[in-house]
Amino acid sequence: MTCLEIHQYRSLARGPRLIVLGAVHGNETCGATAIRRVLAEIAAGSLTVARGALTLVPVANPVAFARGHREGDRNLNRDFREVVSPETAEDRIANQLAPLLAAHDVLLDLHSFASQGEAFVFIGPSNNTDELEPFAQAAREEALAAVLGPRRVVHGWMSAFAAGVAARKARGATGTAINDSVAYGVGTTEYMRSRGGCAVTLECGNHADPQAPEVAYRAIHRALAHLGLVDQPAPASSGPKEVIELHQVHDRRQPDDTFTRTWRSFDRVSAGEPIGRRADGELISAPADGYVVFPNPNALPGREWFYFARHSARVVP
Ligand SMILES: [Zn+2]
Repeated sequence: MTCLEIHQYRSLARGPRLIVLGAVHGNETCGATAIRRVLAEIAAGSLTVARGALTLVPVANPVAFARGHREGDRNLNRDFREVVSPETAEDRIANQLAPLLAAHDVLLDLHSFASQGEAFVFIGPSNNTDELEPFAQAAREEALAAVLGPRRVVHGWMSAFAAGVAARKARGATGTAINDSVAYGVGTTEYMRSRGGCAVTLECGNHADPQAPEVAYRAIHRALAHLGLVDQPAPASSGPKEVIELHQVHDRRQPDDTFTRTWRSFDRVSAGEPIGRRADGELISAPADGYVVFPNPNALPGREWFYFARHSARVVP
């Protein structure tokens, strides 16, 4: 029998309610390691929740974690919502986690990634009243992202994802793929924002980077102090940030679609620089100065191949 392990500390003094998730993807263990270290500190009495509430979920996807895989039956961080008729392990997990998230004010979601590279923070959109992802708490997310540690901050996930869905529809490529609805782009953080909270995803480094659990651990402590859940001085900004906005997702269409070189995530490209070549010879070039983000040379046809991103005008203090 698989169980979700949830630890909750409720101070008798009022304050924000923070939830920290580890291992939403089962092969991303840095968050689980960091959360267990914090649990041990609380058990030993060296860390005390002075106000508000802290919920720690070391392993958000225990099915995938037990297998050492990213997913159990599907990606828990897509199409995240309560499911009336659950069919997959992730449907059942989301049915437990979604109401739990909704009962908090702030989510810190701890992940790692397959490529090499430095840690970064994913934040939500700027304040807006659009239909896609209306939001009013951008300043709170920016302030949290500013102190977590990494110098790189990324935003624009939902708008880039929705533009990708629209592009698939425009070329008649939808109908069979799982990524042909905007709802598929909703993960834990997007769900949290839809329920009135604010949320950041911390990508702590490569899956195997021994520093990744350290990045996650420091971020938990910094979030606790920043939100006032512990009696420690509020941390200062970790320094100037490189803010990057995702603009456009390119799907791999054919197995013979190939990159022009081996791209690492966040490699810079100049306007006009070739990034990939379609099987029919069409060259995909950078439409402006920017970055290649999340390149996946092994993407299945019809799935996300890479994102094009640009320097953002948003300021994270
Ligand atoms: Zn992940």
